[in-house]
Amino acid sequence: MVNNIDIESIVKSVIANMNNVGEQKSNDGSYGIFENMEDAINASIKTQKKVKVLPLEFREKIIANIRKKTIENAEIMAKLGVEETGMGRVGDKILKHKLVAEKTPGTEDIKTIAWSGDRGLTLVEKGPFGVIGAITPSTNSSETVICNTIGMLSGGNTVVFNPHPGAIGVSNFAVELVNKASVEVGGPNNIATSVVKPTLESADVMFKHKSIGLLVATGGPGVVTAVLSSGKRAIGAGAGNPPVVVDETADIKKAAYHIFNGATFDNNLPCIAEKEVVVVEEVADELIYYMEEAGSYKIEGNQIDDLIKTVLIDKNGKLVLNRKFVGKDASYILDAIGIKVDDNIKCIIFEADENHPLVVEELMMPILGIVRVEDVDKAIDLAVELEHGNRHSAHMHSKNVDNLTKFGQKIDTAIFVKNAPSYAAIGFGGEGYCTFTIASRTGEGLTSASSFTKNRRCVMAESLCIR
Ligand code: NAD
Repeated sequence: MVNNIDIESIVKSVIANMNNVGEQKSNDGSYGIFENMEDAINASIKTQKKVKVLPLEFREKIIANIRKKTIENAEIMAKLGVEETGMGRVGDKILKHKLVAEKTPGTEDIKTIAWSGDRGLTLVEKGPFGVIGAITPSTNSSETVICNTIGMLSGGNTVVFNPHPGAIGVSNFAVELVNKASVEVGGPNNIATSVVKPTLESADVMFKHKSIGLLVATGGPGVVTAVLSSGKRAIGAGAGNPPVVVDETADIKKAAYHIFNGATFDNNLPCIAEKEVVVVEEVADELIYYMEEAGSYKIEGNQIDDLIKTVLIDKNGKLVLNRKFVGKDASYILDAIGIKVDDNIKCIIFEADENHPLVVEELMMPILGIVRVEDVDKAIDLAVELEHGNRHSAHMHSKNVDNLTKFGQKIDTAIFVKNAPSYAAIGFGGEGYCTFTIASRTGEGLTSASSFTKNRRCVMAESLCIR
């Protein structure tokens, strides 16, 4: 077990190494980190030959140790993530790492389908793709590395990462962690590999490598389009802009607290988090009242103009996300527009019309635009529009089953949370498993081990049916 002093010194030493990442030498690839992509892929190819023949029980042994080490190192990775990327909240990142350790499915997710009858026995078994190339985001960096590794290894694969350059220290810490976990229980090294300095060029080497059968991209629209244009099989887990609808039948106080909790979790970095609210006029004042009670600060008039100029518009008046404010505390963002609040304020809210850029754009900041509409039908139609066809996530607070059904059918998203904070979708206060790779664009939805496998039909004619 590591104590507080150890945690601080580990974080400092990783950050110190990261600061000269250009000159940083690989640690001879001893726990999965390589100087260049070719070497990372070659090591992965070698390890995959071993993983392919590992009994499922042994894969589970490695995964159990990955889970254990993730929990032990949750605080280190949380602090490292916040320090390196400048985004998110340490407490919430600790919870995210624990969630990924406890609720990411392992080999049990891979199920065989069988038919038996007069003509024998036929199975569809799920085999590995082999070596998988994975791109990971800056927003849930180490969480995604660990989540992907558990799922991919369960399926008999190894994985090569090209992590986000802005989160390379914490991502590669996670790559080393999973390899140490494997080696510690007698498994192979390099179940996951990565590079010292990921670039678009190193991603391109991965995209074109003949030994990589599957690409998995978790990130914004650019990278998803890139993997889908690669000519390889690809899983694209892209951007969302999840709307939350509140109708007049909802428990408004509960709805306000749930929206507040979901939208402020890790300062709104998760792609599933509530990004704008559409509320039926009749209950709008009450919702805002309780959102303020929960810890939101409501801005108005010029303050909204100042906010947009600060977080979204560049000097030339173009709509460009100011990365400096992504994942930052509400108090930090408010300070930038001249408003001082204490740390109890975790969310910025404002009322706007449906075309307001702060409502329309995915900000990944604890900022929620609230749009009032006449009735639930208008709310549903507007929310569908604001989701931009990402088909990613949407949320609703209502006690009317017909309204919930109507919205679910119309918005057709991979995730639809009802009467809970958005994070219930990934098993945090909701039933079901966890993932940090939600593939709405390519249709896998919440990925798990079986998403990283190929179907293999095995047919035994005439025999083995004993019915
Ligand atoms: P990003 O798109 O800036 O980066 C994601 C990764 O893609 C990084 O590793 C980056 O280096 C790489 N990349 C970007 N363009 C590329 C290209 N053309 N070729 C190769 N690699 C490329 O995303 P981010 O800011 O780190 O993360 C936030 C975004 O990701 C948001 O839009 C969020 O909604 C989305 N996201 C989606 C999911 C999901 O499961 N669907 C999960 C997390 C984040």
